Amino acid sequence: MIVTADEDIELFRKAGRLAGLVLEELSRMVVPGISTYELDEAAEKMILDAGGIPTFKGYRNFPATICASVNEEIVHGIPSKNKILKDGDVISIDIGATFSRSNNGTKEDFIGDTAITVAVGTISPRLEKLLTDTQNSLYAGIKAAQAGANLDDIGGAIEDIAKASNYGLVRNYGGHGIGPGLHEEPFIFNYRCGSRTKLKPGMVIAIEPMFNLGGDSTRQKSDGWTVVTQDYRPSAHFEHSLLIMEKGFPEVLTKRPSEKI
Ligand code: MG
Repeated sequence: MIVTADEDIELFRKAGRLAGLVLEELSRMVVPGISTYELDEAAEKMILDAGGIPTFKGYRNFPATICASVNEEIVHGIPSKNKILKDGDVISIDIGATFSRSNNGTKEDFIGDTAITVAVGTISPRLEKLLTDTQNSLYAGIKAAQAGANLDDIGGAIEDIAKASNYGLVRNYGGHGIGPGLHEEPFIFNYRCGSRTKLKPGMVIAIEPMFNLGGDSTRQKSDGWTVVTQDYRPSAHFEHSLLIMEKGFPEVLTKRPSEKI
């Protein structure tokens, strides 16, 4: 989908701003002793209070507002009262916020989708570096996401950072187009794969690199959602939704209030 109407772009901005704001609030709540369920409850309340809709809740029957993925969990972890964060953990929080509009009886959704991985208490220097490098790879991908570039420019920028520090690079999950649905074409690879798909002004895409301290391989748990590293080493995940501009850097729709990009 290509977004051109100002009022559509404004709705994407509104959804992205809310997702970024809520994510920042959640990241401040991350302390040893809190459960991922409490984070989820807070996220749902903040989105509903702002007049938005939690994008993930009910998406293919996903039961929660956030995906909360701790340590070896890469993405799609289900919040739980039994999952209590401990000092030294890392948690990826992924959130989507939707604003809907009715257009001649058809419901149109405008979605912001974003994730960060944060430290719980004090983490090891290696984990600190994993988080910093994964976030920097997202920024490198964003920088490459310009009209006329192709998907390999994004994936290559991410892959180069993963390779420089020998991280496992998750290849079977990646970014995506947004609008009208949450996961639309094109799939945004986190590595070079020979793609020649060009980015066009007005595309809304999410870039979401995932780096592991161990190998590349992943496994899905029997809950049907949680994706973990095969070797159970920790993983980091960062994501932003962006709008491709006529020229230059994209607009980061889900920028958090205190984030410097
Ligand atoms: Mg996403």
